[in-house]
Amino acid sequence: MSEVTPCCGCSYEESWISDCCQLETQTKYFLETDSIEKICDSCNHIAECSGYICNECGNWTETLEERSEYRARMKENYYEEMADARRKYGE
Ligand SMILES: [Zn+2]
Ligand SMILES: [Zn+2]
Repeated sequence: MSEVTPCCGCSYEESWISDCCQLETQTKYFLETDSIEKICDSCNHIAECSGYICNECGNWTETLEERSEYRARMKENYYEEMADARRKYGE
C-alpha cells in the first residue's frame, strides 16, 4: 500500500468509530437485507465510519497521505527544527 497515516507514516485500518457518536461500532448481520452493517454502540443506529485508524498510535485520521509525501514533509520538519535549533543557540 502506498498510502500511510499522516501522524506516523504507518499502516492503517478502516475506522470502526461511528461518525454519529464517535464510539466503537459492532458489526451485525441483517437477515432482511442480507447485509452486514456497522451498528453504533451508543445510539444503536447503523453507523457510517469515515476515516482510518493508525496502526502505530491508534489515532483516528480522516485522510491518508502518500508515503512519498509523508517522507517529504518529515524531511522539511527536520530541516526546520535544525534551523530553529541553530537560531536558538545562536550559531
Ligand atoms: Zn499514528
Ligand atoms: Zn451513534
